[in-house]
Amino acid sequence: MIIKGKKFPGGIHPFYGKEFTQGGATETLPLPDKVIIPLSQHIGAPCKPLVAIGALVKKGELIGETTGTIAAPIHASLSGKVTQVAPSPHPSGNQILSITIESDKQDEWIGDFEEHPDYLNLDPDTTKKIITKAGIVGLGGAAFPTHVKLNPPKDKKIHTLILNGVECEPYLTSDHRLMVEQPQEVIEGLKILTRILGIKKAYIGIEDNKPDALRIMEEAVGREGDRLVETKVVELETKYPQGGEKQLIQAILGLEVPNGGLPMDLGLVVQNVGTAAAVYEAVRFGRPLIDRIITVTGRGVMQPKNLRVRIGTRVEDIINYCGGFAGEPGKVIMGGPMMGPAQFTLDTPVVKGTGGILIFPKEEVSIEESRACIRCAACIEACPVGLLPNMLSVTAEVLNFTEARKYHPLACIECGCCSYVCPSRRPIVHQIRHIKMDLASTKKKVVMV
Ligand code: SF4
Ligand code: SF4
Repeated sequence: MIIKGKKFPGGIHPFYGKEFTQGGATETLPLPDKVIIPLSQHIGAPCKPLVAIGALVKKGELIGETTGTIAAPIHASLSGKVTQVAPSPHPSGNQILSITIESDKQDEWIGDFEEHPDYLNLDPDTTKKIITKAGIVGLGGAAFPTHVKLNPPKDKKIHTLILNGVECEPYLTSDHRLMVEQPQEVIEGLKILTRILGIKKAYIGIEDNKPDALRIMEEAVGREGDRLVETKVVELETKYPQGGEKQLIQAILGLEVPNGGLPMDLGLVVQNVGTAAAVYEAVRFGRPLIDRIITVTGRGVMQPKNLRVRIGTRVEDIINYCGGFAGEPGKVIMGGPMMGPAQFTLDTPVVKGTGGILIFPKEEVSIEESRACIRCAACIEACPVGLLPNMLSVTAEVLNFTEARKYHPLACIECGCCSYVCPSRRPIVHQIRHIKMDLASTKKKVVMV
């Protein structure tokens, strides 16, 4: 039985635009001529390149090794020749050390991977090693290395897993299509994750704008019977940012993750549905993470689609496959419109955390001047974390970072609700990022008042 979720405070109801792609079956992008694979695709330390210019690599070969514990290794997503190891465009807008591989058109795997037909009988440590080796990170966008979340400190007793199938960013439908087309992969991933964590309870949270995914996942859970831990599918209100970890926990369990705390402080682990499916692929078939589903969408592209693409595929190759731009492009965003960064070049590649590419035509992009704060409090009402975005904005504007720190900038999840509702078009999220950067650079402690 599908259960109804609770509400979280704040949030907004933007134009969702999911109709462009929510009914479109996932296609697979043909082999690209080249891929550009950044060595930093996760939260944590960047990887170290293991190949040099001229090296011949196979699909699935390890090409970037980790240099810290919070990191995930990186693998070649096609076979061919390494033609460049140099800083290249990254979705974040920075130049990041990347490995360019030109395809040999053979698309050959590195070899036979170690399959595990009995994957549910593996011991948790072996399973965790496989997940670590496969380079799996959170595919919902945060790209936090999955193996780290599966190794909580001993004093954190985990009792519940939450699978995040919310996909609250407008326009994106890749998780939606995954649940509709591959529900069993998600369920098998859930089984593996709950076995690793040694827990007996799980939830799958899905917004009510995906009735087919809710029904299909509920049927998939029902078919499993005793083979699955107690699992409930939860129908959640369609409201942005419902998919934020803390908002999801509040909506499903009515619990608040304390300021500065983590879900594990409440005995919870949250994983994206795409991550669960990737875990299954890695553990069952031994395959590293070298591709993912993305949504290519918006009025600025001829044929919006859900596409399985290789990590490292350039935006230009993807847009060309989708029939090219529809009219003059105004903005290309990696991810959704609320949190995704705008791109300055079509050479930017898809990384593990990329959920989509959104193209707005020129006529949909308006550049409005930012004006003075009129103290309307709309941003305060919209903030799902309970911050005072207006105060963060006005203090950052005059570069008074000492004052800004009093307003808990580190609690901001950068959801963009405040900027979205601000009638004065103030760039509040950018200003908060500025405060955070200043904090990181000075390493001073936030004054808690
Ligand atoms: S202050 Fe941060 S958390 Fe609050 S609405 Fe703005 S971006 Fe979201
Ligand atoms: S929404 Fe904009 S104008 Fe209104 S209080 Fe917040 S920052 Fe000021």
